[in-house]
Amino acid sequence: MRINRNMKLTFVIVMCLLAGLTANSSAKLNPRQASLRDANVMTVDVVCSQDIQETDLKQQEIRENIVKQLEQAGIKILPEQLWGTAPGRCRLKVLIKVYKPSDLDTFIYNLKVYFVQTVALERIPEAKIDAVTWELTWLAHGSKDRLTEEVPKNLKIMTDNFIRDYHLANPLSGEPSDTNARNTVSMTAPQGQIRSGVAAQYKYVSSKNSKIFHSPQCRSAKRIKPENLVGYNSKEEVIQAGKRPCKVCKP
Ligand SMILES: [Zn+2]
Repeated sequence: MRINRNMKLTFVIVMCLLAGLTANSSAKLNPRQASLRDANVMTVDVVCSQDIQETDLKQQEIRENIVKQLEQAGIKILPEQLWGTAPGRCRLKVLIKVYKPSDLDTFIYNLKVYFVQTVALERIPEAKIDAVTWELTWLAHGSKDRLTEEVPKNLKIMTDNFIRDYHLANPLSGEPSDTNARNTVSMTAPQGQIRSGVAAQYKYVSSKNSKIFHSPQCRSAKRIKPENLVGYNSKEEVIQAGKRPCKVCKP
């Protein structure tokens, strides 16, 4: 029994490391990342296994946090029931599977964040099918208390990875699309002081790396990374900062 238990734990730790490696390796734009290009609107769907009821995790709260995180990164999220109306039927899905083996004093949990959209088959373009084009998984274990803390934390890291890839695939116009510079954003990068979720409070927004300013509703404005976002409330202020108006949204 003892050996069996240790083997199980070793397996879990190895899987966890693999997930970590996957999460860290993205030197250049791969097909997974490229599949996020122009996915301007999406829904977020969180699904939990039955065993989650034995933990203190709350499905609705988890979803709200992920939605908030995505919106703060400038990604437009539709209410769940409108998933069919998003172009390409883009959906970010979050799967939380928790199970408690009866012989172990720990919960094993499996997290999956994946992006689903409708794609056409190369051979038969009229055949359209829903496919997973981006995904990240995480497998680990812990006590009930640890789970309450670790699951939201791990999901946040996974969502950050999605956001990073999303921004790689959708670089801001007027901003250099230097992939190396973008890749230096670490998984644990602290959030900026001003977030795009509060962008609506400003009349004009810009990236600190760009000479162009936008109205907060502009598509380009929504792609500004939270840590780079700067807001202005008057035209004088923004002109003084040496910025010029965007030619698309004409702020
Ligand atoms: Zn604009």
